[in-house]
Amino acid sequence: MKKLVNDVSGVVPDMLEGLALTHPEIALLDGQTVAVRADVADFRRSDRVAVVSGGGSGHEPAHAGYVGRGMLTAAVCGDVFTSPSTDAVLETIRTVAGPAGVLLIVKNYTGDRLNFGLAAELARAEGIPVEVVVVADDVALDTGEATAGRRGIAGTVFVHKVAGAAAEAGLSLAEVRREAEAAAAMVGSMGVGLSACTVPAAGRPGFELGPDEVELGLGIHGEAGVQRTAVAPADVVVDTLLDRITADLALAPGERVALLVNNLGGTPLMELQIVARRAVRRLTEQGFRLERAWTGSFLTALEMAGCSLSVLRVDDRLLDRLDAPVSAPAWPAAHLGRVRPEPLRVPGTPAPGSAPAAGSRPAAAAGGSPPRRVLERVVEEICAALVAAEPELTMMDQAVGDGDLGISLARGAEAVRREFPGYGEDPAAVLRALSATLRRALGGTSGPLYAVLLLRAAAVLEEAGGVPAARDWARALAEGARAVSELGGAEVGDRTMLDALVPAADALRRALDGGAEPCGALSAAVEAARKGTAATAAMTPRRGRSSYLGERAVGRVDPGAEAVAIWLEVVSRTVCEGN
Ligand code: ADP
Ligand code: MG
Repeated sequence: MKKLVNDVSGVVPDMLEGLALTHPEIALLDGQTVAVRADVADFRRSDRVAVVSGGGSGHEPAHAGYVGRGMLTAAVCGDVFTSPSTDAVLETIRTVAGPAGVLLIVKNYTGDRLNFGLAAELARAEGIPVEVVVVADDVALDTGEATAGRRGIAGTVFVHKVAGAAAEAGLSLAEVRREAEAAAAMVGSMGVGLSACTVPAAGRPGFELGPDEVELGLGIHGEAGVQRTAVAPADVVVDTLLDRITADLALAPGERVALLVNNLGGTPLMELQIVARRAVRRLTEQGFRLERAWTGSFLTALEMAGCSLSVLRVDDRLLDRLDAPVSAPAWPAAHLGRVRPEPLRVPGTPAPGSAPAAGSRPAAAAGGSPPRRVLERVVEEICAALVAAEPELTMMDQAVGDGDLGISLARGAEAVRREFPGYGEDPAAVLRALSATLRRALGGTSGPLYAVLLLRAAAVLEEAGGVPAARDWARALAEGARAVSELGGAEVGDRTMLDALVPAADALRRALDGGAEPCGALSAAVEAARKGTAATAAMTPRRGRSSYLGERAVGRVDPGAEAVAIWLEVVSRTVCEGN
């Protein structure tokens, strides 16, 4: 078991201390694992009904996170997935009870019902007015006389909110109870589990789910759900859950509802928002009036991956209760519950005078340089080579980076293929347009570096004017490499694409200076790029993502340098075909 815990028997007290240390408005009931409002002494003297909930721990932020003005007065925290003792509940009741009495909100589990129920009984015998509301919102299981009935899950948080707001509004115990009961009767929830969770004291998962399995209706302690099925797209899963809930609540089109998208603990927020997206659309499509929606971790099951959806039928009064301000740390600020049926999209702002930069200049007079057809062929061959090299570059970047270089370059190549026909005629314009395409399509670190390389190279060709000669191309490559170094801050020897680019540019210039034919000079450049790339295997990275690996990257070739060697080789092969 890998968990950030100390002694497994101390997880609940340790957690509560952390909460109280970082939320001074929450206090701990001495000698118990109970969170109470820090102003409990003042509270008792008020005429407000105290609202108490709790149950096993492992459902954080439930329940201690809901302690605060406008929500819970106290939360009684049992051991992980274990009901708190009757005595802990009873002492909590005594501690928070003022003249208006105490409402207990209990999730429908046998242990919780017994301990909270017995504590209520004992407290009443001591003269404290106590009422109990049981929440059983899980629609996954049919209610049956023969069973313990439905479980209480995330919809309970709505009941906390409604009861807390009603109590804060100064209602009597009977009235607060009535509102809490009404809310409990109007909420339905259902979850889907994607993975198990491990109770710290147990040390291993309570059950297993296969790699391609999900469990619909899985309980918040890993109790069985209704059905194990294969993983399906999020939209399908959401529809299944929602349809069951809305059918169970017998919701009719036009009715007003609030939605809770709850993380079971181990689900990335990304997935939770994907779920929220569909849930909002589905409810709206079916004609329900979605008044509020919240997405986040409200009632979890340790690190279980998955989520639950809760739908609450609302009216104006209930909405007021949901919107009422609270000081509890785990209930979101009021404005966060708002929802719209479609995302608002604002129009972007295009570049000023945004006619395409490319294509503005006519082709230069025919001369000794490669005409646009050759340039087009070269670019096409480079694109093909980079697409073909995707798996290899991906593997190389996985070893020393994050594995996206192959995909990025292939994506860039596809974009270039699509956009090339609009690139215009003269080579400088083509490079400039290439730069713009790659800036947009490549991403990562390579995106801006290739964009600046091509932009600077275009400027060199433009400055040279006319039809670029081999020497102009050589200077364009050298200046482009310099621009990469300026923007990225790397030098030769830092184990980046510069270790291929710079030696290649040097070799090209030297060969031409020495009187070599363009094709001879190009093959010298390719050879230098190859040598430079191979040498990166011995270098310690100082730039880019590989630098986090330090010495561990040594022995492997830098993928960015390899990519340079690949396209330079293609340039040489294509330009010098038949030579
Ligand atoms: P990332 O995923 O790290 O953002 P890419 O996968 O797009 O970047 O590109 C990784 C390659 O970028 C590296 O293999 C290296 O050749 C090159 N690179 C990283 N940092 C720099 C830099 N500062 N200067 C030049 N090249 C760099
Ligand atoms: Mg990368």
